[in-house]
Amino acid sequence: MLIDAYGRAVDYLRVSVTERCNFRCLYCMPDKPLSWVPHSEILRYEEMILFVRAAIDCGVNKVRITGGEPTVRGNLDYFIKMIADYAPNIDLAMTTNGFLLGDLAAALKNAGLKRVNISLDSLKRETAGKIANRDILDRVLKGIEAAISVGLQTKINCVPMKGINDGEICDIIERCRAWGVSVRFIEYMDNTRAHKRLRGMRSDEILEAIASRYEFAEIERDLKSPSRLFALKEGYIFGLIEPHREEFCASCNRARLTAEGLLAPCLYYDEALSIKSRLRSGDVAGAVAVFREVLANKREKNRFGQERSERAFYETGG
Ligand code: SAM
Ligand code: SF4
Repeated sequence: MLIDAYGRAVDYLRVSVTERCNFRCLYCMPDKPLSWVPHSEILRYEEMILFVRAAIDCGVNKVRITGGEPTVRGNLDYFIKMIADYAPNIDLAMTTNGFLLGDLAAALKNAGLKRVNISLDSLKRETAGKIANRDILDRVLKGIEAAISVGLQTKINCVPMKGINDGEICDIIERCRAWGVSVRFIEYMDNTRAHKRLRGMRSDEILEAIASRYEFAEIERDLKSPSRLFALKEGYIFGLIEPHREEFCASCNRARLTAEGLLAPCLYYDEALSIKSRLRSGDVAGAVAVFREVLANKREKNRFGQERSERAFYETGG
């Protein structure tokens, strides 16, 4: 079992397969990213899997593929299958913007992917296009429907922002209810690459907007998830992710591997150690030793507003 410096068991690995993306979301990526990491510096799937298998052997039982946008990297089903073949019983999930899922959902499901979280910030074509800086909505909706129809367990992620999509929170709940999928509203997290004048909604403001249309109550949360859960009177369950909340990090069970081979203990800091050279020389035991060192130095809490990471979320893997 992997335990961090504050006694938290770490059993969840997020693997970023690329920092690249086909969107330029206002809250995530500038229109012209500073530079892309050259392909030669990105871990090959055969290198990543060495570490993923070792992490599973150490007690990791949940792996989430993310990015950047994971579906823009070729042969993703091949990587998913390598993980699923090694550990068919783990929780194998992916976070995606959904744009390419219409074409890929069936192959990813067949490869062993179990769950997807798909980002959907607006149901209005113009607003969705403004947020992603691309005309995306039709394909994202098709991607969501493809994921549901091939049997991937699906959740929606939505980042509410004042003056942009704040009027759509209840409409998004309605649409997700009609699809039979849960939505998680994520508080906007300030970061160095986001559009400068964004104003995210805090959780109390999001709940206030929901209360204008629905009656709901908080229900018991899954202690392994960062999400607080709420049930509408009608029974539909939605979630809230509040990284600004004091207790947010108390149950953190996560570590991250970036596409470049950095092991990062937290999304919000630059702190990370590289295992690239170890994986490239086949030194898996050395990579695991670095992993234990990273966890031994993991901080107790994120410190939003006090420190900013120079490494973007899309580089670390959101
Ligand atoms: N490209 C994929 C996607 O958009 O779902 C995966 C990577 S993205 C970085 C992962 C999640 O982080 C998305 O749901 C996105 O909405 C969220 N995210 C990105 N930047 C954020 C920010 N500044 N504040 C809150 N959530 C953010
Ligand atoms: Fe791309 Fe996801 Fe970032 Fe949007 S949030 S720019 S889709 S990585």
